[in-house]
Amino acid sequence: MKLKDKVAIVTGGARGIGAAIVERYVAEGATVAIADLAMPDGEALAQRLGGKAFAVSLDVTKLASIQAMVDLVKTRAGRIDILVNNAAVFDMGPVLEVTEKSWDFLFAVNTKGLFFTLQAVAKEMVAKGQGGKIINMASQAGRRGEALVATYCATKAAVISLTQSTGLDLIKHKINVNGIAPGVVDTPMWEEVDALFAKYEKRPLGEKKRLVGEAVPYGRMGLPEDHTGAAVFLASTDADYIVAQTLNVDGGNWMS
Ligand code: NAD
Repeated sequence: MKLKDKVAIVTGGARGIGAAIVERYVAEGATVAIADLAMPDGEALAQRLGGKAFAVSLDVTKLASIQAMVDLVKTRAGRIDILVNNAAVFDMGPVLEVTEKSWDFLFAVNTKGLFFTLQAVAKEMVAKGQGGKIINMASQAGRRGEALVATYCATKAAVISLTQSTGLDLIKHKINVNGIAPGVVDTPMWEEVDALFAKYEKRPLGEKKRLVGEAVPYGRMGLPEDHTGAAVFLASTDADYIVAQTLNVDGGNWMS
């Protein structure tokens, strides 16, 4: 077991990639806080995993909610060793139709929320003086722009940049900040993505999802479980000397 007796927080852990990481971390011996807006889903997952996981309400767009979540995890589990900064939202549309509301929402969750969750957890890790591991969920969308996806791509490019800057600043406290950049992953988020591509590219539902899956060099779309090995590795002592990197876990879609 690579994470025996560690305490981890997984934001957006109630479903999709986050839920797969929660499940794997528990199997590796960690106690895991499932920190999510979707409390019923988080509680159902926690119940399925027994006493090693618990759900905590979190809205990353509200700093008070982030602090309340951190305080609750500290009270329940005593400390925080690992943060997986995974919660995010998606939207897309032609550049000429992007609204301020959509722009602000994506940046509030994907970028500002991620940064201030990292800051609140890092403060606890520094106060404890035992270091820690922080993993930011980026995306291949952060590696290059895409015509209909300007805002989401920009939020994820910012995640890669923040991983570099925060990683360089926090390593003196023995806090490793690294990132994972998934490619295309079969989660509830991709159902939303597919529906939006169907609207803007005038395709039948399901076609975009099939095409992007066929285009992956590995031969299929990613599954949430495909990302758990990297999430365990980056949270373990095996990754102590890895600092401020973002690892592509995308079946070969992207080179960098
Ligand atoms: P998902 O939509 O299936 O799950 C996201 C979770 O985040 C949900 O449980 C949701 O309730 C939670 N969440 C949303 N807003 C929140 C908020 N304000 N506060 C707290 N929790 C909130 O997403 P997923 O596909 O599992 O994606 C997980 C991560 O991987 C995201 O960062 C996403 O950008 C990234 N990613 C996904 C893909 C993909 O193809 N699915 C590709 C690349 C990167």
